[in-house]
Amino acid sequence: MTETAKKLDNKLIAIVGVVFGLTLLLFFGLRFVFLQKYEVHYHANFAVFVDGERLPFEKFTFYEEVEACGGNGIESPKIRVHMHDQINHVLHVHDNGATWGHFFANLSYVVGNDFIQTDEGLFVENGENTLTFILNGEETSTVYNKTIGNEDVLLISYGSESDEQLQDQYSQIQVDAAEYNEKDDPSACSGGKPFTTSERFKQALQFWE
Ligand SMILES: [Zn+2]
Ligand SMILES: [Zn+2]
Repeated sequence: MTETAKKLDNKLIAIVGVVFGLTLLLFFGLRFVFLQKYEVHYHANFAVFVDGERLPFEKFTFYEEVEACGGNGIESPKIRVHMHDQINHVLHVHDNGATWGHFFANLSYVVGNDFIQTDEGLFVENGENTLTFILNGEETSTVYNKTIGNEDVLLISYGSESDEQLQDQYSQIQVDAAEYNEKDDPSACSGGKPFTTSERFKQALQFWE
């Protein structure tokens, strides 16, 4: 190899190196700027009626403090899905895998296909009374193993109501999960946990995830 060819070779290696470095820097920079905090947090609405009466969920034990909102780690089943601030028709979902069964278990309820155990007792289907589920306007036979969808609306009703009465109960559910998805939730969930620069830096580096 001549002296000139060797020099050219070195130059080429240097150029390739610089281009590679700049590409990497640009990639990282763009990630850093456009990265959104990865955190599952969406909402759904529900109501439970027993013998025509809507359960009020008044006890404070039905509601979680902000600490229960977790982050990325699911350390406790209560983190997955819960209610906040004595608002008895809004579920805050923090895990894509959370089911209606998980939610009711966190309230110490058990919801089967033909029975419901509430804080007021066990209600089992019999000749007079049936357990009905209406999910997003459609009657369904089971909910406990269904994952909770974003902006789902669920009615659970035990009793002897007619279809018309059930529709009336369903229409009483406040449908405002979409609003909660837009809100900042200052007192609940996402409140008090800003995306810090160091968190952003760390997450920008983890591009294999
Ligand atoms: Zn929330
Ligand atoms: Zn929460």
